Parts: sequence; structure tokens; C-alpha cells
Amino acid sequence: MQTLLTDSAEEAASFLNSGGVVAFPTETVYGLGAGICYPEAITQIFRAKGRPGDNPLIVHIYSLEQLAEVASDINPDAGKLIDCFFPGPLTLVLKKNPAVPDTVTGGLDTVGVRCPSNPVAREFLRLSASPVAAPSANLSGLPSATSWEAVYHDLNGKIDCLLRGTPSAIGLESTIVDCSGSIPVLLRAGAITLEQLQSVVPELSANRNLNTLSPPKCPGLKYPHYAPKAAVVLLEAHTTQAVGCSSAYIGLSSPPEGVSLVRLCRDTEEYGRELFSFFRHCDAQGIDTIYCELPSSKGLGRAIRDRLMRAAGKK
Ligand code: AMP
Ligand code: MG
Repeated sequence: MQTLLTDSAEEAASFLNSGGVVAFPTETVYGLGAGICYPEAITQIFRAKGRPGDNPLIVHIYSLEQLAEVASDINPDAGKLIDCFFPGPLTLVLKKNPAVPDTVTGGLDTVGVRCPSNPVAREFLRLSASPVAAPSANLSGLPSATSWEAVYHDLNGKIDCLLRGTPSAIGLESTIVDCSGSIPVLLRAGAITLEQLQSVVPELSANRNLNTLSPPKCPGLKYPHYAPKAAVVLLEAHTTQAVGCSSAYIGLSSPPEGVSLVRLCRDTEEYGRELFSFFRHCDAQGIDTIYCELPSSKGLGRAIRDRLMRAAGKK
């Protein structure tokens, strides 16, 4: 399959509207989209990524009018979160509208819905004839793609079209909140922080034992995620131990002695934005070990810690 590179949202949407699979930029990470009414294109998303079929896709909408096409029974807490954070880096898990195919939701009776704020994503979704099912545009198990070049590296020849945009402003996948039960639950930390969510819905809880729930609330989280080829070693702030020569460091405070590649970040926003592209850069450079500083779990630090723990195989 030939992958067309384009800067035109109109051209990309025309591929989507004729049943193609299209990668597109968003403010979180790049997405790999198909119209929800094209079963073969949905299957092609799973094939191109090597993604297990029970790992549900997030449905992306342009406007709140489209919400009723994909979800039903939107409770008042979900309504408040939508008012405050849509469009933006938040996915809500809601009761699904029967019109959404089971292949999109991994057989669940719920659907993850997101309305991105990135202007290129919005233009692409505006021109799409239906809501767009899209996981992150990377090979399953590898770090999410935060630039079009990273998408190209993983998926060239496996998808119909790649809509180029700027590097993702946030660089971490969306916050996911399950609003399908009586109390909203944080399923995945992201750029909309727990503190922000609780300022709108104080009883919202941060569930810690997702993988022990049966059936699992967030099936995707049982799979290994975000891992570079290099070993990932987690460090508390200001560790000064000496390290081996083919090693790299990313964090907020000064690196351990002897690392050959250093990415010092000014704040957690920069840390989140740079993390996955740094992992990919280290793999391209043949780095053996990446030392990563664990930030505090306040604010965006919670999402960065989550991704680091998964990359290190500790979650
Ligand atoms: P990705 O975009 O690759 O991060 O994948 C989407 C992730 O969203 C999945 O792996 C799940 O963790 C989550 N997700 C999507 N739909 C649902 C749903 N209906 N219920 C729970 N989690 C979901
Ligand atoms: Mg993903």
C-alpha cells in the first residue's frame, strides 16, 4: 500500500470518506483514524498497528451535536466535564449508542469519546462524514508518535494517508475518565489533571486497581505500552550515581554522571512533550539504558509517572 503524505486536511478527509485509514495530528499524540461506518478500515487500523482486537478505539468527534450519534445516557457529571474540557485532551467513557460497531469498542457496551482541540484535527474532523475511531498512530507496544516523522517511521506502507502537522503540543495520550457508572473514575492520567477534574466533580476518584476489575474497565491498559527498545530505569530526583556509557537521561534535575545523551526539561509540560520523542531518539541512537527522573505525582507529573512506570515494566 502506498502512503500519501499531505498537508491538506481536505485531501486527508477525502481518503477517510472513501473508506481509507488516515493518520492525523492532535494536541495529545498523532491518531490513526477510520470512519466508524467502514468496518474494513477499522480492521485495517488493528492490522497496521498489530493491535489486539479487544483493545477499544477512542471515537473522535468534531462537535457536541455528534455526541448523540455515538453515546447515550450522558449523566450530569459527564455533562459538567464536557462543558469544562471539550474540546481538549480528555476522553470520556460513556454508554455506547448501538450504532457504534462492536469492532470499535472491543465488544464493550461503552465507548470512549474525545473532541480534540488541535486546529488541524478539527478541520479534518469537520470534513469527515462521520465520527472517527482512532487509537494512537504507532506500532502497538512502542511509544506513541508525537510527530509526523514518527508516524511515518512506524506506519509507512501500512496506511492510506498521513496528514502532516506540527509536533504534538502535549505529547502524552488523553486523560480518560469513565462516566458510565454512578461515580466518575480516572482510568488514565493525562494533561487534564486529577486536580482539574476534581475541581469540577469533587467525588471523581482515581482508581488504582483497574487490572483486577472483571471485566476490565480499560482493557487497553493491560497491554504493555510506551516502551522503547532500550531498558528504562527510574530515578528519584537528584540521583548522582555513575552510569554506563551507552546511556541517556531525561528529567527535570541534573543528570547522573557519565550519561552520553541528556534531555533536561524546564518543567513537567516540557517533560511530557519530549518523553516519547526522546525514547524514539534514544532507540535510533542505539542507547542501551534510559534513566528517567520520576516527577512528583502532582498535576501533569501523575501522567508522566504513569507512562514511565509502564515503560519500565512496573505497571
Ligand atoms: P490509544 O489511543 O492507543 O491510547 O488507545 C485508546 C485507549 O482508550 C484504549 O487502550 C483504552 O485504554 C481506552 N478506551 C477506549 N475506549 C474505551 C472504553 N469503552 N472503555 C474503557 N477504555 C477505553
Ligand atoms: Mg496507543
